[in-house]
Amino acid sequence: MQEIVVLGAGYAGLKTVVSLQKKSGDFHITLVDMNDYHCEATEIHEVAAGSVDRDKISYPIADVIHSNKVKFIQDQVTHIDKDQQVVTLKAQGQIKYDYLVVALGFVSETFGIKGAMENALQMVNIDTAEAVHNHILDRMKAYQTTKDPDDLKLVICGAGFTGIELAGAFVDERARYAQIAGVDPKEIQIICVEAAPKILPMFKEEMANYAIDLLDKLDVQLKLGCMIKEIQPGKVLYSTSKDSEELESITTSTIVWTTGVSGSPVMEDSGFKARRGRVIVADDLRDPDHDNVYIIGDVAAFMDKSSDRPFPTTAQIAIAMGEHVAKNLDHQLQGQATENFSFKSAGTVASVGNTRGLGVVGSTNLKGYPASFMKKIIMNKSLMDIGGLKEVFAKGRFDLYH
Ligand SMILES: Cc1cc2nc3c(=O)[nH]c(=O)nc-3n(C[C@H](O)[C@H](O)[C@H](O)COP(=O)(O)OP(=O)(O)OC[C@H]3O[C@@H](n4cnc5c(N)ncnc54)[C@H](O)[C@@H]3O)c2cc1C
Repeated sequence: MQEIVVLGAGYAGLKTVVSLQKKSGDFHITLVDMNDYHCEATEIHEVAAGSVDRDKISYPIADVIHSNKVKFIQDQVTHIDKDQQVVTLKAQGQIKYDYLVVALGFVSETFGIKGAMENALQMVNIDTAEAVHNHILDRMKAYQTTKDPDDLKLVICGAGFTGIELAGAFVDERARYAQIAGVDPKEIQIICVEAAPKILPMFKEEMANYAIDLLDKLDVQLKLGCMIKEIQPGKVLYSTSKDSEELESITTSTIVWTTGVSGSPVMEDSGFKARRGRVIVADDLRDPDHDNVYIIGDVAAFMDKSSDRPFPTTAQIAIAMGEHVAKNLDHQLQGQATENFSFKSAGTVASVGNTRGLGVVGSTNLKGYPASFMKKIIMNKSLMDIGGLKEVFAKGRFDLYH
């Protein structure tokens, strides 16, 4: 019996398992994740803002795996030894594999900026997102006695997709925060600090400008061209000029770090040829140096031959990779050749709160409510792809007409 070990039960890993467990053959799957639930990472900003509860964006792994074919181990992966074909777990020792699928996902990237990890709140999983929300509630309550305007200021570092989605979710919750603090909603400041002079470089100028106007209308202060240099407790220090050493600053009780992500540190720690936690994978999604190791999702860099750059890491490509690896493993187990992976993005859509958004699907620009509608459709599709109908009925967003 061949042992297939899958590390990570995010979009990529869990999709691999749910697809593979349907196939027949002389194999057994062991799935490892540090949590016993699957988290829809694309929605964590809503937990951070408090728009949705953690249960709405997660479900038990046990709900979707077939226990006769798959064993689930809840533990933290600390090391992978590709030569000995052994994975080391923090609490439960070592497990051996014949085939390995590495899908350990993303961690926060601080780009070495001093104090970013220590003094800013991270938002990379349900626990850290929930911690952001609890922190905001604490500061709003504290304001009633401190009367410190910094308690009413929410500063987001980075105005990429995640930063913008978080700002939009904060806007939706502004009135609630204000009520807790006992102030007018206008007094809750939402500020995004971004190094680049423009936002959303993947979009044409018209869409990027639309995003800037939308944030402005929603009273989100977008501070572009502000290169963050350091995060001190309660203070973001940034420079607005390459030629000057002088730093400006914003003081605040809430700093959320969303400047970017890298792949799991386990990749570099285990000697994979990774850059920022991502390995450039072969055309069939295997590690170029190991025929029995697949690397998928946010720990993989899959080259887009048309641009000669890796595809952006998204849930969309992670799910497609999971499906493909299940097929390739089935081929390998049957002694057949693997197939090359190909990917065509269905589009890119960001929400800006519950009823607004922006994005591009095919060659169509989507703005406002239609974009938000499309984002919910895409998220429900991801839920369906992995969790099936049961999870869609339990967690799906059917409030499409709000
Ligand atoms: C706020 C936000 C919004 C986003 N919006 C979109 C969007 O609209 N569309 C889109 O396509 N993408 C979006 N993304 C990106 C998307 O979430 C990621 O690309 C996707 O989650 C990657 O999937 P994955 O399976 O590789 O990793 P993950 O989803 O990160 O899953 C990794 C899994 O591995 C587990 N794990 C990690 N390390 C260990 C360890 N050492 N030991 C054991 N288990 C471990 C984790 O618990 C997790 O279950 C968004 C991301 C964020 C943060």
